[in-house]
Amino acid sequence: MKRVVYNFSPGPAALPKEVIQQAADEMTDWRGSGLSVMEMSHRGKEFTEILANAKSDLRALLSIPDNYQILFMQGGAIAENAVVPMNLVGRKSQQPATIDFVNTGHWSVKTIEEAHKYAKVNIAASSEDAGFTYIPARDTWKLTPDAAYVHICTNETIGGVEFDYTPEVGDVPLVGDMSSNILSREFDVSKYAVIYAGAQKNIGPSGVTIVIVRDDMLGHALPICPSAFDWKLVVEHDSMFNTPPTYPIYIAGLVFQHVLKLGGVAAMEKINIQKADLIYNYLNSTDFYINRVPAAHRSRMNVPFFLRDESLNAKFIEEADKNDLVQLKGHSSVGGMRASIYNAMPLEGVQKLVAFMKDFEKKYG
Ligand code: PMP
Repeated sequence: MKRVVYNFSPGPAALPKEVIQQAADEMTDWRGSGLSVMEMSHRGKEFTEILANAKSDLRALLSIPDNYQILFMQGGAIAENAVVPMNLVGRKSQQPATIDFVNTGHWSVKTIEEAHKYAKVNIAASSEDAGFTYIPARDTWKLTPDAAYVHICTNETIGGVEFDYTPEVGDVPLVGDMSSNILSREFDVSKYAVIYAGAQKNIGPSGVTIVIVRDDMLGHALPICPSAFDWKLVVEHDSMFNTPPTYPIYIAGLVFQHVLKLGGVAAMEKINIQKADLIYNYLNSTDFYINRVPAAHRSRMNVPFFLRDESLNAKFIEEADKNDLVQLKGHSSVGGMRASIYNAMPLEGVQKLVAFMKDFEKKYG
């Protein structure tokens, strides 16, 4: 008997069951080609079609304007922490250029650490004073007028804080790490100069990184930038400067099709609001569990919570697992629990989790 669970992993995360099933059905013979997607030449007609469809479906899903390019890259968001400055600081005549950062948690910190190699760093705002539990208000940011760009992480996967708007930053290019909330809510791509996201939360398996870049950001890579990470070269080779991660791109394409079929990003957002409300409303109603993020800043994707009596942590994980609710343990840097409820988590999964949390409270509260 196969085990069926609700998977709350922060990433690599649950994929839609339908997508996994379709990939299984097509595993040994992709649509009559006699080939598994894993065995195809990336330059052959079959994979060329897979890539073109993935690109146009993502463009449709996010209403990406024509003056933006979609790149399928490797190295994850961590590599982009170097790739972004290597491609953008060269736009400034004065070196070292300054990059403005809004520091909202673990992933912002990583981005900032890497940027020091390529530029002067200005922390325009930070929520470190309160343990990264909020998004600093836009009117408190101290931006540099001629910065190379402003960087934000739109959803902090570990801290569970999320921007619920796109900040205005004037003429300075805005760069967003959307690894953990892309495709989960509507937003205006044209407010950003560059968006990047590792795939392994809302898009597909790990191994492919999506970069969406406005045309005027191309062609400024520093001489030290590896060719495979020079966005202009990657665009010119249609994401095939090197062999792209073909299988993750194929799965990402299936996910895009699936989301389109469900009604697109607007439909996902509606369900995501329902799911997040369900769990946060319960957390608001009890003091058996704690969430440290004020309501306005709470992530719809990652819900960290703590048992007031931390000695019950192991029991919680063990009993949740017995109820087929898995991968709920919080990140080692913060402890407690975290429920990641990306697009592929159905409403029933969150209902079952909340019911379990209530039962657990009754039993041990
Ligand atoms: N940024 C965010 C917001 C993330 O959630 C993660 C991964 N959890 C990363 C960056 C790093 O991604 P990767 O390990 O794929 O490079």
